[in-house]
Amino acid sequence: MDIALSPEDIAFRDDVRGFLATALPAAVKKGAALTPSVFVEPEIGQAWNAVLHAKGWLGYQWPVEHGGTGWSPVQRYIFEKECALAGAPNLTVLGLKLVAPVIWTFGSAAQKAFYLPRILSGEDYWCQGFSEPGSGSDLASLQCRAVRASDGGADRYIVNGSKIWTTHAHHANRMFCLVRTDPTVRKQAGISFLLVDMDQPGISVRPILTAAGDHEVNQVFLEDVVVPVSDRVGEEGAGWAMAKFLLENERGGSCHAPKLAYDLDQLAAAASGQGDGRGGVLADDPQWRRKVARSRLGVEALDMIELRIIAEIAKGRPPGPQTSLTKLLASNLRQEIDLLAIDLHGAAGLQLESHRPLYAPDAPAPVASWGAQVAAPRYLNSRAWTIFGGTNEVQANIIARSVLGL
Ligand SMILES: Cc1cc2nc3c(=O)[nH]c(=O)nc-3n(C[C@H](O)[C@H](O)[C@H](O)COP(=O)(O)OP(=O)(O)OC[C@H]3O[C@@H](n4cnc5c(N)ncnc54)[C@H](O)[C@@H]3O)c2cc1C
Repeated sequence: MDIALSPEDIAFRDDVRGFLATALPAAVKKGAALTPSVFVEPEIGQAWNAVLHAKGWLGYQWPVEHGGTGWSPVQRYIFEKECALAGAPNLTVLGLKLVAPVIWTFGSAAQKAFYLPRILSGEDYWCQGFSEPGSGSDLASLQCRAVRASDGGADRYIVNGSKIWTTHAHHANRMFCLVRTDPTVRKQAGISFLLVDMDQPGISVRPILTAAGDHEVNQVFLEDVVVPVSDRVGEEGAGWAMAKFLLENERGGSCHAPKLAYDLDQLAAAASGQGDGRGGVLADDPQWRRKVARSRLGVEALDMIELRIIAEIAKGRPPGPQTSLTKLLASNLRQEIDLLAIDLHGAAGLQLESHRPLYAPDAPAPVASWGAQVAAPRYLNSRAWTIFGGTNEVQANIIARSVLGL
């Protein structure tokens, strides 16, 4: 879908397009195309971040005073769309889009001055310590305990507990973490938001392999971990409001439709060169065409909803619980399109190559094509879309309650 862009926005789009044509490294683009997991590896993500940072565009959603571009919501949409069309990797969200807005909205002056530049420079790599065994959908029931200790001079918390499904904790040197500071009050009121240094004794990270065999998530154990009180964001007991703020950004902080449209277009184009087993090409097969059309309609509808949310943000309103709708639709479409890739490649798309990373020079050559090589692990890993950031059922509950007022 094309929105009617102003002449200024068209000039901006052309500027972004020109930049991407020359500045997106071929290795980064290849890394993005051959990554079967949800997040690209840090070596790909950080390389792309460094290019954008050098241009001053990495903080494209950040306020100017913290090193951001100050772009309008429409400019941010154009940027994301052009990045998707150019085949750039998704930006690693954990520092840039999840914890950064919490820090600049709720953090102290010292936290802003210390942490925000380190996110842009790539010095810090963050992971998200929210979920625990037994506390996922019911996040407010979390048990990881932080006890205040002020002996020995410095004011600090001693943290004990465990976090699970922690994306890229094995790469991270920092974790933003929800902890229980008061077990005696209503469960939401006893939670605080801490910034944890991962490089200290007492933290151990155990891998959890995905269905496709990728190491993307972990369980993190915290045993007498020390966190200075100065690394608590906001007041003690105020962490739940920050968690809700962060989750809204996680669900709706970016537009999903442009990337989904790009992936669908790639599959549709590849179908012209794919035999249908009956002497014709798959692109002419009515069943295939129906499936592609169905997904395309879904992507266009999502694009419209995301643009409506952008219009709200442009008027100064927060994204709100409607982001649950975009998260739910985008997750379903992601899985639908990854299933289409299996359909496209037939038997070749069912092979499960275990070598990682697939973009490495020593990765085995694909039996059929790189698209086929990545299809099965991507399909398996994208099952996670309807779980992380809150499951589809949780999003449906939020939509029913907060959007529809049921
Ligand atoms: C790949 C991946 C990456 C992740 N990364 C992170 C991360 O970096 N940091 C982090 O903190 N967490 C992360 N998560 C965790 C994720 O947020 C949780 O898995 C998710 O919130 C679901 O929680 P749960 O796994 O405990 O499932 P449960 O909450 O036990 O849910 C089990 C089932 O019950 C359903 N259900 C539960 N409650 C309700 C209800 N009230 N109404 C209807 N149905 C309900 C759910 O929809 C689901 O189908 C990640 C998860 C995955 C899969």
